[in-house]
Amino acid sequence: MASTATAQNLSFVLQGIHQVSYEDRPLPELKNPHDVIINVRYTGICGSDVHYWEHGAIGNFVVKDPMVLGHESAGVISKVGSAVTSLKVGDHVAMEPGIACRRCEPCKSGKYNLCENMAFAATPPYDGTLAKYYVLPEDFCYKLPTNLSLQEGALMEPLSVAVHIVRQASVSPGQTVVVFGAGPVGLLCCAVATAFGASQVIAVDIQQPRLDFAKQYATTATFMPSKSPAVENAERLKQENNLGTGADVAIDASGAEPSVHTGIHVLRNGGTYVQGGMGRSEIQFPIMAACSKELTLKGSFRYGSGDYKLAVGLVASGKVDVKKLITGTVKFEDAEQAFKDVKAGKGIKTLIAGVAE
Ligand SMILES: [Zn+2]
Ligand SMILES: [Zn+2]
Repeated sequence: MASTATAQNLSFVLQGIHQVSYEDRPLPELKNPHDVIINVRYTGICGSDVHYWEHGAIGNFVVKDPMVLGHESAGVISKVGSAVTSLKVGDHVAMEPGIACRRCEPCKSGKYNLCENMAFAATPPYDGTLAKYYVLPEDFCYKLPTNLSLQEGALMEPLSVAVHIVRQASVSPGQTVVVFGAGPVGLLCCAVATAFGASQVIAVDIQQPRLDFAKQYATTATFMPSKSPAVENAERLKQENNLGTGADVAIDASGAEPSVHTGIHVLRNGGTYVQGGMGRSEIQFPIMAACSKELTLKGSFRYGSGDYKLAVGLVASGKVDVKKLITGTVKFEDAEQAFKDVKAGKGIKTLIAGVAE
């Protein structure tokens, strides 16, 4: 194992399934005058990181060579390129970890999260942010206002995912929203929907501790589905919450097939359904209900134009609280513990502290 004291760019590397190690990687370089180097200070771990650690792959993304993990980070600017104007050494920033090509059709149409040539941290073959230093273009770094800590900065990644989902759903004031899955992204969807003016936000999960947390975090109610068919759960959800003919918006942040079914059935005619969670790639789907209710169905992938900026703004203005989601912090040397915690469903968000300069 590389020693913390002497390593120039200590990195947490996935070698193979359940095989991790610390490597001293070369210092990142400014590849472009608009690049900045960040000393990474806090990194959150999410389901996708844990999936790579456990299975070495997500769908078609297969880890073939050792890969640095992590993509939910915040840090301190330690070097700036000659053309950088918006940031200076010492600035605290949230790091957006996917660099779009800026040239393909989706990029040029303003949907850079759908870039055909995306280089995304900790998605093979691109290294992640669990390193002492990381390089990004300046416009993928978001300066944290003084009332936001670096720990909160690391939460801007999952919050941006939630912002994108709720924007895809076009949640507007007075609407009723049902969110399936009360993990970090589901909870943050509840918080963003509330900030967007939803009058009722109902969190659905099959784990009571998660619902207990959701109850005191940005929801108006919670719901525990039973083992009965989705149509029956949807009926009970509507009745218990006086949703009349159904909810305006259903968001899936779980990826679980029963949630997808209940989500479709809980919507009113003309409602909107957004798929944010990633579960099995093929499922059965109540397509007749989607058709006859004339639902709007949308996917949501990562985050795009304006999402990080809005995420920072929502927390800075006190509309969304991300502090409550932070369960604890482990040292960089104990990074694997954070993976074990997520796997075991312990807490909500464990952060890994970075290697300070
Ligand atoms: Zn993530
Ligand atoms: Zn592109």
